[in-house]
This record gives sequence, structure tokens and C-alpha cells, in this order.
Amino acid sequence: MPTVMSHAVAALALGPAFRRAGWRTRVWWAGALCAVLPDADVVGFYAGVPLGSVLGHRGLTHSLPFAAVLASVLAPLLTPRGTRLRLWLYLFLATASHGVLDAMTDGGIGVAFFAPFDTSRYYLPWHPIVVSPLGIRPFLSAWGLAVLASEALWVWLPATLFAAVAWRLTRRRLASQS
Ligand SMILES: [Zn+2]
Repeated sequence: MPTVMSHAVAALALGPAFRRAGWRTRVWWAGALCAVLPDADVVGFYAGVPLGSVLGHRGLTHSLPFAAVLASVLAPLLTPRGTRLRLWLYLFLATASHGVLDAMTDGGIGVAFFAPFDTSRYYLPWHPIVVSPLGIRPFLSAWGLAVLASEALWVWLPATLFAAVAWRLTRRRLASQS
């Protein structure tokens, strides 16, 4: 997996493309949480869940159906009715971005994008992101540095550029709404 920070950065970078006047800060917190939440499945390691099972790492919580359900639960809690569909789409993409980034790493098991309907594991054909180790100790090594360097190049840089362009493009529309 990429690090927790990089998953959150990807979600926050999507924000400017979807933002609406009146959306509160809690929307962005929710987006970041959605992007991080799929890795809650690591508790399965300690609970003895087999790695390749639907509840194993990169299984159900990394799927597109999970992203749809999570967005459907959170969207009504976060915003008035008018912009709910847009917010749903943002939260869906924030959650789904997690699996996409995982599928771009150079290690670990594939992502069950269509679980529970199809439990096959998938990688994207291009995986430039160095997979992050589990635990702090292996992270404090050359491996950890390689992870941070690859995430800076393949996640943080494109995320920042995307957010800056989207922010600029939506600025005028937002000003007319307020
Ligand atoms: Zn993950």
C-alpha cells in the first residue's frame, strides 16, 4: 500500500474539482477518512483472516461496491440535499482512489475491485509506486525512503497539480454561488 498520508492526499486533491459553496470542513475530513478506511482490513492479519479471502487485505474494503456503500452512508450526514449527488461522487472517488493507488504498487496482493460479486484480485498494468512496508521499523530504512520518493513523484506531485488546476477552474463558479 502507499502510506496513509498519500491516500489522504489523493482524496483531498480531488476535493477542488467537486467543491460547492456551503460545504463545510468536515466534508474534506470525511474524504480523507474514506481514502484511509479501506486499510482497516489489516486487523484481519491479526485475526487470522487468510490473505486472499474476500475479507483479507485489499479485499472487500478496497472494492468499488464498498466505496459506493460508504459514500451512500456518509453523504446524507454531511450536506444539505441540494449537493448530495455531487458529494456522493466525491466520497465514492475518494474511497475508490485507495484501491486504484494500491493496484499501482509494485508489491503485495492484488485488489478485489469487484468484491463481493467477483473476488478476483487485480493490478493495474502500470505500477510505479514502491509498496509500503507494514510497521514502523522497516519504514525507517532505505525501503522507507524509496517509498516516500516514489509517492512524492507519483502521488503528491500529480495530486498537487490536479488540485491547483481544479481550484483555479472552479474559483469563478464558486464565487458566483456565494
Ligand atoms: Zn490498501
